[in-house]
Formats: sequence, structure tokens, C-alpha cells
Amino acid sequence: MTTEKVHCLIIGSGPAGYTAAIYAARAGLNPVLYQGIEPGGQLMLTTEVENFPGYPQGIMGPQMMQDLQAQAKRFGTDIRIGLATKVDFSATPHKVIIDDSHEITADSVIIATGASAKWLGLDSEKKLQGRGVSSCAVCDGFFYKNQEVVIVGAGDSAAEEASYLAKICSKVHMLVRKDEMRASVIMQNRVKNLPNIQIHWNTEVEEVLGEEEVTGVRIRNNKTQALTELNASGFFVAIGHQPNTHIFKGFLDMDEQGYILTKPGSAHTNIPGVFACGDVQDKNYRQAITAAGSGCMAALDAERYLAAREVALSHA
Ligand code: NDP
Repeated sequence: MTTEKVHCLIIGSGPAGYTAAIYAARAGLNPVLYQGIEPGGQLMLTTEVENFPGYPQGIMGPQMMQDLQAQAKRFGTDIRIGLATKVDFSATPHKVIIDDSHEITADSVIIATGASAKWLGLDSEKKLQGRGVSSCAVCDGFFYKNQEVVIVGAGDSAAEEASYLAKICSKVHMLVRKDEMRASVIMQNRVKNLPNIQIHWNTEVEEVLGEEEVTGVRIRNNKTQALTELNASGFFVAIGHQPNTHIFKGFLDMDEQGYILTKPGSAHTNIPGVFACGDVQDKNYRQAITAAGSGCMAALDAERYLAAREVALSHA
């Protein structure tokens, strides 16, 4: 195992991680950033981003991430490929293991590991991922213009994505496993009022059909157990997200879904010197702009923490 000492370690490379890096680098903290398993994060799966302030014509998600990376690099961030596989926050300085082979001792750690889409877990879903199976209607809906699609889920995300798909696709089958939806009433009403959305209540997916690409879905009514097949060329899963926090369990306070709890109005976690920003600590807003804003907060909090610690050490 190789070892290294780092002043400010950033884990994750979405808008939160890169914004933290820009601020930390400009503050002279010499940040080292590990990109993780999905460099660029969820925006790499997006097409056009139209709601990030400063881009009146919109910008492609992957382009935005390249720009953020270049900006972080410009101020001296050491950007590396690698995945944090283990941590030990039981003592300061904190330890983070990268790729099970490199041990970093860090004076401060900024966690920006984001959240990943949940899947149903069917073999057929996995087999056809990227070939009709998607977790992002906004990214992939366009490929199914004027075609029939299926979306699974009944929360606000599913309702929002179903409404989005209804604008592009000829028909949207929305599969809801209960006889009610979890989505807010306003979002439910929106999907119920769109004529090309058909809601299938008490319905679960047996199999996504197709060899090379999605051709349909076999569904089961969980009240009657009746099996039916729907024709569809797109299969969208919108059943929530899972924060990427498993390596921090046992050290950091989290809510019941595994989102890291930060002290209100800050990026501080329960461990001094460890900060969290972006979707890993936000299940509510989950926007590029809010992630970037919280990345800025994390870097400023880290800078103040390190400055206070240096003052304390110099008086020790
Ligand atoms: P949620 O956790 O709120 O909803 C997940 C949905 O997926 C539930 O309806 C759940 O069903 C269903 N589900 C879970 N697992 C399965 C499965 N294996 N098979 C079938 N269905 C399944 O996640 P969301 O991503 O929708 O929302 C997350 C948060 O973000 C919420 O707080 C939401 O309000 C917020 N949000 C707000 C938006 C807005 O205001 N514009 C837009 C998007 C999200 P069940 O109900 O049966 O458990």
C-alpha cells in the first residue's frame, strides 16, 4: 500500500466536487480530487442543461462537466482517476483508501460522491441497459419520439418524467405497484390529466422484452396475478436514488435512506474536518446549481476549519 499526505481531499467529480475544488484551489488548499466510478457524475448522462444560470442558450451536461473540470484544473487542483474504497474517520488526520491500494492521510475531506439511480434488479433490465432501458427520461426520452414507452415508479420523479415523456412519445404506460401514488397531488393530477399517459395500478414488471433492444414489457397485476404484455421501445425506471455513502457508514451520521446529515446551513458532518456537499446530502433539491452551491460551502467550511486548526496547533 502506497501512502500520501493531503491537505484537502475531495471525493467525487460532479458539480459539487468540482465547485469545491475551484474554491479550495483558489484558497491555496492544494486540493486533490478523485473522480470516482462515474467521472462527471449524473450530468454526464444528461443532454441539454437549460436551467443553470449563465447559459442563456443552455449547455450540454457533459460539456458543462468538462468546463468545470478545466476550471478546477486551472487553479491547480490535482485531478485523479480513482475510487475511494475505504475510510477511517476515527482519528485525525483522517484516512481514505483509494482503489484498495493507496492510503491518503487528509487534513480535511470533502465528500461529493453523489447519488445513483435505483434499478429493479431484473436480469432483462440489466441486459438491455443503454439499449432501451434508461434511468433518465430527460437524457434519453428524445430517442423514443412518437413511440410507445413504459415508466416505472410513482414518486415525484416518475410523475415528472412521465409528463416529460408524454410531450415527446406517442404513449406512456406508467406502472405503479400500489393502488396509490406517492407523488405530490399536483404532480399526480398532471399525469392523470395527460391523455397519452395510461396508469397501470397494482402493476409490477416481470420482464423487459427484447434481444438486442427493448420491444416490450411483460407485466403482472399483483392483485389478480394476471400477466400481460405491453409494446414499448423505451423502458424508464424512476424509483428513486441511492446515495453513494456505503463506505462512510459507521463514521458519519446519515438518515434512514443513507443520505449524509450535515449541520443546517453548513457542509459540516458530525466528524470535524469531514464535509459533505451535493446529492450525497441532498435528497430534496438535487439540482446542478444547488450541488455547485453546496460544493462552494464545503470548500469555505474546510478552509475555515483548516485555518482554525493551524492557529490552534501554532498555540499548542
Ligand atoms: P421516491 O422515493 O419519492 O419514490 C420512489 C417511487 O418508486 C415510489 O412510488 C415507490 O413506490 C417506487 N418504487 C420503489 N421501488 C420500486 C420497485 N422495486 N418497483 C416499483 N416501484 C418502486 O423517489 P423520487 O425519486 O420520486 O423522489 C425523491 C425525492 O425528490 C422526493 O422527496 C420527491 O418529492 C423529490 N422530488 C421532487 C420533485 C419536484 O418537486 N419537482 C421532482 C422529483 C423529485 P411505493 O410508493 O410503492 O413505495
